[in-house]
Amino acid sequence: MNFVSTRLGAEPVQFEDAILAGTARDGGLFRPERLPEGVLSHLTGKESIAQTAAALLRPFVEGGALAPALEALCAEAFDFDAPLVTPDPERPGLMALELFHGPTGAFKDFGALFLMACLCRLSDPDHPRTVLAATSGDTGGAVGCAAEGRSGVRAVIVFPKGRVSAFQRHQLTCWDAPVSALEVEGDFDACQALVKAAFADAPLSARHRLTSANSINLARLLPQGAYLGRACAQVQAKTGIAPGLIIPTGNLGHGVAALYARAMGAPIGPIMLATNANGALADWAASGMYKPRASVATLANAMDVGAPSNFERLAALPAGLGDVQVERVEDDAISTRIISEYVRSGYVWCPHSATGAEAFARLAPLERDARPWIVAATAHPFKFADIVEPLIGRAIDPPPALQAVLSRPSHPTEAKADLAALASHLNTLEEPALS
Ligand SMILES: *Cc1c(COP(=O)(O)O)cnc(C)c1O
Repeated sequence: MNFVSTRLGAEPVQFEDAILAGTARDGGLFRPERLPEGVLSHLTGKESIAQTAAALLRPFVEGGALAPALEALCAEAFDFDAPLVTPDPERPGLMALELFHGPTGAFKDFGALFLMACLCRLSDPDHPRTVLAATSGDTGGAVGCAAEGRSGVRAVIVFPKGRVSAFQRHQLTCWDAPVSALEVEGDFDACQALVKAAFADAPLSARHRLTSANSINLARLLPQGAYLGRACAQVQAKTGIAPGLIIPTGNLGHGVAALYARAMGAPIGPIMLATNANGALADWAASGMYKPRASVATLANAMDVGAPSNFERLAALPAGLGDVQVERVEDDAISTRIISEYVRSGYVWCPHSATGAEAFARLAPLERDARPWIVAATAHPFKFADIVEPLIGRAIDPPPALQAVLSRPSHPTEAKADLAALASHLNTLEEPALS
C-alpha cells in the first residue's frame, strides 16, 4: 500500500520510506492512501497483541521490504501484555486498559520497540542510522530502552538539564550502547531547536543517517491500534457490545490509531478524547474551528500540547470515520479525580490516565450505561509519584520494570545547546568501539 501526504503535495511512498523520512516533503504527514475495511472485523479478543498487530499492519507493509519479516517484528516488539482491569468492582462498566507493563512503564514502549525493530531490519550494520530525539518525558526513555544492544541503529537522546524529574532523568540516561543521552544547558525548546538544526544540516544528517522517532512516525502510531482493538474485541466477546474508548490525548497519536482501527473493523464504539487544559481539540469539537496555540503546563505534562501534530491526520479522514467527542479536564479536576478514585476503590491513576477517568465520570448517565467503557491507562503512576503521592497520602511502589531501571547506573553526557557540540558528539560515536 502507498502512503500519501495529508497535504497531497508529495509523491506517494511505501511504508518503509514513510517511517525513514518521518514527515513528507511538503511538510505534511504520511497517511495510508486508504484504510482497508474489514481487516479487524474478525477479532475474537483471543489473539495476542503481536498477532493483532500483524493482522492490522499486513495490508500496510504488503509489497515492501518489511513484509516478509512482519510476524517476527511484531513478536519481538509486542512481548508484554496490556491487561484490562476493573478498577472498581462496584462499577463494572469502567475498565482500565493498562498500557504500562512494558520496560519503561508507559504505552510509548509499544511504538518505540516496533519502530526500532523496523529500523534495525532496514539498516546496514556497517552504516548505522542514528535516531535523534529531543525529549522531556516518556519518549526518550522508551526509545533508549528500545535501542539498547542493537546494531545498525544508534540512539541519541537530547534532554534539558534541570527540567526533568529525577526519575525521568534516570530513565533517559541509564541505557547502554548504542544509546547516549545528552544533557543540554537549556530548556526543552532549545533541545528541539537543536535537533531540528541537525536535521536541517544536510551533510551532517546524511553522514549520520539521522532519523527521527517522534510520535508522528507511522511505525509508532499504527501498531497502537492493535492493543486498543484487541481490548475492545475482548469486551465485545464477553458482553456482545462494542465498548466506548476513552483516550488521554496530547499529540493525538493514540486517538488517530483508534480511529484507524475502528475504520478497519475493530469493534470500537464511540471514541472520546480526554485532554488536559490545553484546549485546541475541545474548542475544535465545540466550534468546528481548529486553532493551534502555545501549550500550557499541566499535571499531565506528557499531554501538554497546544497544536496536536496528528490533527492533520484526523482532519484527513473521510466523513464519518473521524467522529470523536472531546472532554477537556483542568488540573484541579485531575487532582480531585485521582483522590476520589483512590478513596473509592484503592486504584491509583496517573495524571494522564486520570483525565480519562474524569471524562468517564462526566458522561451523561444514558450514554455511560449504554455500553462498557475502556479508559486507556497510559502510564504507571509511579512515573509521576511526585504528583500522585501527595494526593493519595502514601508512597507508590515501583513495578519490577521501573525498579530495574532505578538500579541501573546513570551516564549522561553534558553538552551545550549548540549544533557544533551535537555534531562533535555524533562524531565520537563513529570511532570504532574499544574492546
Ligand atoms: C505521550 C503520552 C500521552 C499522549 O499520547 P498522544 O499519542 O501524544 O496523544 C498520554 N499519556 C502519557 C503517559 C504519555 O506519555
